[in-house]
Amino acid sequence: MLQLGLKARDLISLSYNLYNELASLAKQGGCIMELRKKENMCGANGWFYKKGYLDFDGREIHNNTIYLLEPIDVDLFYSFIPTELDGRKIPRDQIYRFVVYHEIGHALLDPLQKSIWHANGTLNEDKMRLLKGACELRADRYAWESLFPSQPLPKTEGCQFLVAKLEAFMIEHKNLFTAIRTPKPL
Ligand SMILES: [Zn+2]
Repeated sequence: MLQLGLKARDLISLSYNLYNELASLAKQGGCIMELRKKENMCGANGWFYKKGYLDFDGREIHNNTIYLLEPIDVDLFYSFIPTELDGRKIPRDQIYRFVVYHEIGHALLDPLQKSIWHANGTLNEDKMRLLKGACELRADRYAWESLFPSQPLPKTEGCQFLVAKLEAFMIEHKNLFTAIRTPKPL
């Protein structure tokens, strides 16, 4: 029973067709897509993960995996504190596509994929924060350009200072930020 004053959650789920479309989009970007419930997503709508394991001969094998939240809470999605892109401008029916493109962006753009989230001592805490922020910025830009190629990126009010800081960081560490990788479709 709904209690007075509590708003029903606005959830979006994947249809059969959308699931197939996104799974094949992920494959084109060289990623496997797996659905996850919110208990296993630490508050994220999507998650890019490079699974590593050793094969029989001791060689390291990697799988790019996109974990996708199912269902997505629309109000929560729109309430995320953005870096640059104003996520509230993403139409409701494009949220799932945006999340998958964003994660593919991480697969194709993130520097030092293997070590970024586990960097040991190469960057201090502040710089790690900027590195992660820069990765989010790039993944958002990639996703927006992929989904809406002819529309300028809608920016959050007052984001200029942070964006300038992230861009300066990317210039200072341009050796980390190589060009976009060509996806290896699965
Ligand atoms: Zn991200």
